[in-house]
Amino acid sequence: MSTVPVKILQERRITFEPALPDEKTAAIDSIFVGDGLKIFVAFKERFYPDLVGFGGVLKALRMENKYIYDAAFNKGADQNILGLFAINEKAAEYTRLDSEAAIINKYLAELDAMFDGQASRYYHKHIIQNWSAEPYIRGAYSYDFYANRRQTIKALRQAVANKLFFAGEALSIKHQATVHGACQSGLAAVRQLLGEAYSLTTQDL
Ligand SMILES: Cc1cc2nc3c(=O)[nH]c(=O)nc-3n(C[C@H](O)[C@H](O)[C@H](O)COP(=O)(O)OP(=O)(O)OC[C@H]3O[C@@H](n4cnc5c(N)ncnc54)[C@H](O)[C@@H]3O)c2cc1C
Repeated sequence: MSTVPVKILQERRITFEPALPDEKTAAIDSIFVGDGLKIFVAFKERFYPDLVGFGGVLKALRMENKYIYDAAFNKGADQNILGLFAINEKAAEYTRLDSEAAIINKYLAELDAMFDGQASRYYHKHIIQNWSAEPYIRGAYSYDFYANRRQTIKALRQAVANKLFFAGEALSIKHQATVHGACQSGLAAVRQLLGEAYSLTTQDL
């Protein structure tokens, strides 16, 4: 069973012998997986509101924009921590920079512009979670399908020689890009492996 992220397959980090069927490879390559980034910064003083959205809440929810939030909100913590969540191009603005120092400097400069230099003034420490740089992840999650989505997922789910099965978030139709979608896809793949009737109309999708 293969449950590795789509990017790992797209970058050919695993060699299959015999090679995967062309239809499977084409389906894998037709998925867009963007960059994914979170940054958490601890500050000595709190100078910010609970949530800062860029360019409209709806766009932020559709992940076309980044958002910054009070990561300690309602957590009973006495620390001042701002979180940044960014996917796709909004994440790439940071991940394409060549060092962690460059990423944090860009982010602090943006916060300084919004909060009158207070981010740099009260900066304490930070953690960057760059999912695109993780060697076994290499990105955020499946975001778009260049070809017919249902056909693509069907090709992805097709077992190879009834021996090699596939699962993961990209193989969920209803809950793509989520943990529960990945779990449901895994359940469907196990049922497929056990020889149960496999259909794109089952509730697992
Ligand atoms: C910043 C961010 C925030 C998110 N927020 C949410 C959220 O709030 N809610 C939600 O539902 N989802 C969220 N997601 C999406 C969710 O994390 C993924 O959809 C989910 O983890 C995908 O599960 P998966 O099992 O398909 O893949 P993964 O969780 O990526 O698991 C794949 C596994 O394969 C392993 N692997 C890779 N290469 C190899 C190899 N060569 N050999 C062996 N093993 C290998 C990896 O180490 C990894 O353990 C978020 C994702 C990101 C990046």
